[in-house]
Amino acid sequence: MLIVMDHNASAAQVRAVQEAVEAMGLQAAPIPGRERTAIGVLGNQGYVDDTAIRNLPGVRECIHVSKPYKLVSRDFHPESTLVEVGAVKIGDGHPPVVIAGPCSIESPEQMVAAARIARDGGAQILRGGAFKPRTGPHSFQGLGEKGLKYLRQAGDAVGMPVVTEIMRIEQLDAVCRYADILQIGARNMQNFDLLKEVGKCRHPVLLKRGMSATLEEFLAAAEYILAEGNSRVILCERGIRTFERATRNTLDLSVVPLVRELSHLPILVDPSHATGKRSLVAVMSKAALVAGAHGIMVEVHPDPAKALCDGAQSLDGEEFREMMGDIRALLSYLGY
Ligand code: PEP
Ligand code: MN
Repeated sequence: MLIVMDHNASAAQVRAVQEAVEAMGLQAAPIPGRERTAIGVLGNQGYVDDTAIRNLPGVRECIHVSKPYKLVSRDFHPESTLVEVGAVKIGDGHPPVVIAGPCSIESPEQMVAAARIARDGGAQILRGGAFKPRTGPHSFQGLGEKGLKYLRQAGDAVGMPVVTEIMRIEQLDAVCRYADILQIGARNMQNFDLLKEVGKCRHPVLLKRGMSATLEEFLAAAEYILAEGNSRVILCERGIRTFERATRNTLDLSVVPLVRELSHLPILVDPSHATGKRSLVAVMSKAALVAGAHGIMVEVHPDPAKALCDGAQSLDGEEFREMMGDIRALLSYLGY
């Protein structure tokens, strides 16, 4: 529920309303920038009865927000969130960011070579998977903690923050120690216990859309992280499963402007997993930026033919450099 206060409501009236909310066993959620005119109310018992509140002095109206996500919505947080990772800023008013790196960390040499490709092409953040959610158990499962070390070393060598996927709660300590951003992959988007745990830590979280998740389910998953106190969440559209098999997934680009309407969180696009085809990565990256994405995440590999995972969608150094040249031209056209 959203309690809208009169513009001239006094601080004492606002406090009295907050106390009435808390006396009902509900949480009064602060609304950034609107502390004096609106009070968010959170509870998990369904419909909130507003009879004890709507006639209090200073209350203009009570609006019932029926969406399953509230802290994530613009109703509760009108200003866009900027997620800062070191010197990199992700969100409205800043040039879109590029995250690049291999699907999997394979060796120190491979990781450093991929990091150089990412940096030389102009990416701001390095990616690499140490814990890999593979479809079958006989595929390469990732190097685990050793891989995290190689990722960190490669990131430090090129001066870039790093992002990596966490699959289980037990991995949280290690991933937080080595990475700057925690990635929750498509397959874990509705692993609610994991979402709650990453919500308790202070690292930014890159939350990917589940492969069959509706936009509402995607935003409700993000709500789990914010509800635990971590509002440094970056959303990532990575394609959804449809009847179309010509591409690995179907890139649902219309969620980009929709997320920007419904939520204050930044939204990225991953054209690599969305298409599964390296020939489509550059053009869909540009389409994502035109649609308003706050950045893209792409897979690059020094030798895609030898990649242990997702080689068919990975760009080599030359292809990445060329794509980044096009992207720079596009961003300058878009006014960045
Ligand atoms: C990844 O980014 O490495 C990955 C596994 O992607 P997704 O979770 O979107 O499939
Ligand atoms: Mn991959």
